[in-house]
Amino acid sequence: MRLACDRACLSDCRHTENAVGVRALNVVRAPDVLVVGGGSAGLFAAIAAGQSGARTVLVEKGERLGKKLLISGGGRCNVTNSGDLQQLIEHTPGNGRFLHSVYAQWSNRDIVRFFEVRGVLLKEEDHGRLFPASNSANTVLQALVNELQRLGVEIRYRHAALAFLIEHGRVCGLRSVKGDIQAGAVVIATGGVTAQATGSSGDGYALAESVGHKIVAPYPTSVPLTSPDVRIVSRTLQGIAVQRVHVKLLSGKKILASEEGDLLFTHFGLSGPVALRLSQYLVREKTRNPAAGFVALVDFVPAKTVTEWLRELQEYVAVYPGRSIKQALKPHVPERLAEALAEEAGLAVKRCHEVSRAEWERLVAMIKRWPLAIGGTLGMEKAFITGGGVDLRGIDPRTLASKLAKGLYFAGEVIDIHGHTGGYNLTAAFATGYVAGGSAAKYALARED
Ligand SMILES: Cc1cc2nc3c(=O)[nH]c(=O)nc-3n(C[C@H](O)[C@H](O)[C@H](O)COP(=O)(O)OP(=O)(O)OC[C@H]3O[C@@H](n4cnc5c(N)ncnc54)[C@H](O)[C@@H]3O)c2cc1C
Repeated sequence: MRLACDRACLSDCRHTENAVGVRALNVVRAPDVLVVGGGSAGLFAAIAAGQSGARTVLVEKGERLGKKLLISGGGRCNVTNSGDLQQLIEHTPGNGRFLHSVYAQWSNRDIVRFFEVRGVLLKEEDHGRLFPASNSANTVLQALVNELQRLGVEIRYRHAALAFLIEHGRVCGLRSVKGDIQAGAVVIATGGVTAQATGSSGDGYALAESVGHKIVAPYPTSVPLTSPDVRIVSRTLQGIAVQRVHVKLLSGKKILASEEGDLLFTHFGLSGPVALRLSQYLVREKTRNPAAGFVALVDFVPAKTVTEWLRELQEYVAVYPGRSIKQALKPHVPERLAEALAEEAGLAVKRCHEVSRAEWERLVAMIKRWPLAIGGTLGMEKAFITGGGVDLRGIDPRTLASKLAKGLYFAGEVIDIHGHTGGYNLTAAFATGYVAGGSAAKYALARED
């Protein structure tokens, strides 16, 4: 005789009545934890659940795990950053403070230890960025897959989650394209909406909304800036990379943000870490005020004040009076940029000794406040990270449990959190995954007792 199952079992489960009327379980038990999404956050959620002793199943809608992880950091995977807790939070401008409690439980130090214990040595590059010494994201993914196998986590591919199974207001499983799967707890780690070819197409938003969560409308972040300026359109500056510049992003007279770092001129505008960091402020302002205009005010030589640099240039002219302006600028900016700036100042044909004090002052002022009209950003498909996502007000910051539906947890880019480039996003994905998976296991195992 078939009984109604009250233990969150698999769809093919049979709880039967034996000869003396006692119920016995005669097939495989349902998973304690069901993780949805085999990206960075989902993999760590499944690992944490498995390490907690929970029977864990991971469903992935594609045919492979970690597709975005494999393309991260240009295929080298900037796994985390060596900065302290404050730096991790500061470099996560999209609600980084929400992560205080998560990082107190599991953070970049734990990520480093996790990989090193499993033989993946990390090396540090500029700005504290940590990469696998192999320079291959595959090494990172393989370590995660090996751990899942060691823990006996079951992975089901081509299992797109469609809806929750709900019982008495509690999430107790999923409807997937392959059928229903009951579970003690469910972790949503379906990612954002950038690089959709990797599988992250925003499915988690509809799932979250179905149980009452609010979604902060997704927007592109860490995305290059576009410019209609003739100096960009003419491609004169295309390909020039400038290190350690300072850029202010203005909307009218309002300074939206300022950032220091490396900048790259492209055929459409600006890219590189500084432009990527500024992009989120522009996108948010444009959402508030669609008619807003923007200007990037670039200081190509922020390390020197106008007075210091003018004094140095006077000394230079005294020693090299016959040299060109381009040569005088070359110690401070890349050669092609020096040429373009001398041209723009109308001084390209002059020798140093022919330039008046007023002309030097004008040149230095221009290089330290170089305005470039900015039109907007490239679209979501070119963004590295999704801003917006599941509203944090509906999530418990300590456990990443839904405040609206018991048995439901969130991890990774599906949540309304985004960081700068530099390893901060994978750090957030790994850490939220680890905490959500561990919390989900605790919840599910406690219900069984
Ligand atoms: C080009 C690029 C380079 C990057 N480089 C770096 C870097 O070097 N360092 C860094 O810190 N960050 C980097 N990032 C950001 C970082 O990769 C992401 O923030 C992170 O991978 C997000 O992890 P996630 O697990 O939340 O989502 P994802 O990695 O997007 O994983 C989501 C998974 O869920 C699956 N899924 C979706 N819907 C369903 C469904 N309905 N059912 C089942 N499965 C589903 C998807 O197929 C996917 O496998 C980069 C991003 C891009 C686009």
